[in-house]
Amino acid sequence: MSQHTREGSITSDHIKVTKRHGNSFRDKLYLPAIYDGVKVTFKHLFKNLNNINDIETLRYPEEQPTDITQRWRGLHRLTHRADNSIACVACFMCSTACPSNCIFIEATQRQDGKDEKMPASFFIDTLECIFCGYCVEACPCDAIRMDTGIFSLTGNKREDFVMNKEQLLSHKGAFAEEISCARN
Ligand code: SF4
Ligand code: SF4
Repeated sequence: MSQHTREGSITSDHIKVTKRHGNSFRDKLYLPAIYDGVKVTFKHLFKNLNNINDIETLRYPEEQPTDITQRWRGLHRLTHRADNSIACVACFMCSTACPSNCIFIEATQRQDGKDEKMPASFFIDTLECIFCGYCVEACPCDAIRMDTGIFSLTGNKREDFVMNKEQLLSHKGAFAEEISCARN
C-alpha cells in the first residue's frame, strides 16, 4: 500500500503509527494531570527543605560557581608577548573562522620590527558571539583565548557588550600564564 505526499509516495512499510495520548476520560479531565505535576513539585520542595545543603542549584549571585574548568569557554582575552606587546598579528584568521561574524579587526603596520602587522582596533560583539571557541582554535599565534573564567557580563546598553582591544588585553587568564606562546 502506498501513500502520496508532496515529496512523493511512501509505502506503508515506512510509516510508524504512534498511539495518540490524551484521549481518555481521565486525560480530558485535566485535574489528575495537574495533581500529578503539583505532587512532583512538592515532593522535590520537601526533599530540598529537609536537605538544604545538598541542593544541586546555586543561590546565584550570592553563591558563585567554583568548578569552572580550564576547558570552559568564558569571555575572550587578547594575550601579550613576553615584552608585554600585543601577540596578535592581525591575520584575520579568527574573524574568518567566526560563524557569527562578530569579530571586527582593523590592521595597521607594526613598528617594533617583531612582525609585519598588528590590530589598530579589535572588537568582539559578545551579544552576537555564541562562545564556540572557533576563533581560539583558528589563531596561529595563541593571541586570543577564552580562559578568563568570566561567565557573567552585564551592561545597560548594547555598546557595553562590545569588547574593544584595550578591554580584551586587560582581561586576565584564570588558569594559564599571561604570556602568549607565540614567538616573541
Ligand atoms: S567564540 Fe565563536 S562566535 Fe564567539 S567570537 Fe569566537 S568564533 Fe566568533
Ligand atoms: S587573534 Fe589570532 S587569528 Fe585573530 S587576527 Fe590576531 S593573530 Fe590572527
